[in-house]
Amino acid sequence: MIVTDQIHRILTDSREATFEKLKKQASDVTRQYFGRTISLYAPLYLGNYCENNCVYCGFSSHHKIPRTRLNDAELHKEMNVLSKQGIQNILILTGESDRMTSVNYIKNAVTIARQYFPNVSIEIQPLLTDEYSQLIKAGVDGLAVYQETYDREIYDTVHVSGKKKDYNYRYETPERAAHAGMRSISMGILLGLAPPVEDVIALFQHLRFMEKIYPGVEYSLSFPRIVPVEDMDYQPIKVSDDLFVKIICLTRILFPRVGINLSTREQPAIRDDMLSLVTRMSAGSSTLVGGYTHIREGEPQFDIHDHRSVKEIVQLLKDKNYDPVFTEWRCLHEVSGLRV
Ligand code: SF4
Repeated sequence: MIVTDQIHRILTDSREATFEKLKKQASDVTRQYFGRTISLYAPLYLGNYCENNCVYCGFSSHHKIPRTRLNDAELHKEMNVLSKQGIQNILILTGESDRMTSVNYIKNAVTIARQYFPNVSIEIQPLLTDEYSQLIKAGVDGLAVYQETYDREIYDTVHVSGKKKDYNYRYETPERAAHAGMRSISMGILLGLAPPVEDVIALFQHLRFMEKIYPGVEYSLSFPRIVPVEDMDYQPIKVSDDLFVKIICLTRILFPRVGINLSTREQPAIRDDMLSLVTRMSAGSSTLVGGYTHIREGEPQFDIHDHRSVKEIVQLLKDKNYDPVFTEWRCLHEVSGLRV
């Protein structure tokens, strides 16, 4: 059960002593359940076509940017470069366009990706159950889908047009994916859209619901903070570093087994400071389509703040006595003939 008034009290408590106590408890729990391991992954943007108008995003359909998507030869090039850096776990991303980055287009990309990587996750437009089944068959083992905000009124205001406007369809996406047999599901909120404490509580409730209905899924949570896009005038609600860290700590204490992801949206200093709390980090990331081989001119979805290479992140982890993990999971059906 989620005790909402307690969460509220902890997240709004500004005393330094409470903060330190929370950090210590969360670090201990992380160490207890995950040891000193951090999994590394890299995002790979296949295309930036999007049919939604989200006021906070650089890929929004109303934002005048050159649109593109990678062809097969370019997919191979990008994946080859990433795998040579040691990356084994990729997150395939697109805008949300059923037309330009359709299920078939993504299926083809996943088939190519599986030639390079044992772990392939997707962050794409929400799909139907049988479409997720097709992608799982092609080699997808993880899905990232964020509700962005659980405040229905704000959700409706910031998602001006497109399929994403349908709050319920998005909310039910983790269920459709789990029903299709998705091995791991990452849920989250975009911090800065709505009052953060209420959104965190709603996310926790959503996760508890999923755990109850689909206990076999491996869950993780993400709390990306909005990075304002230069030529768009959306101004997010400020979420301080302290509140951000407190949210991560509370997540860890309430959900000891759940993975916590940290992207390169965050500054190097805060990423380094949170090593004892998170379980998965992106490294050497680009948010540009074709960004690893500079195939295309274009604009990123958002600017990243940690530009360190995979090699540098690995060295950092080793220097701080953490074990970098490149392969979290491997599908054995290829060797045994059985889907495991
Ligand atoms: S947040 Fe996603 S759906 Fe919205 S505009 Fe950006 S890419 Fe498209």
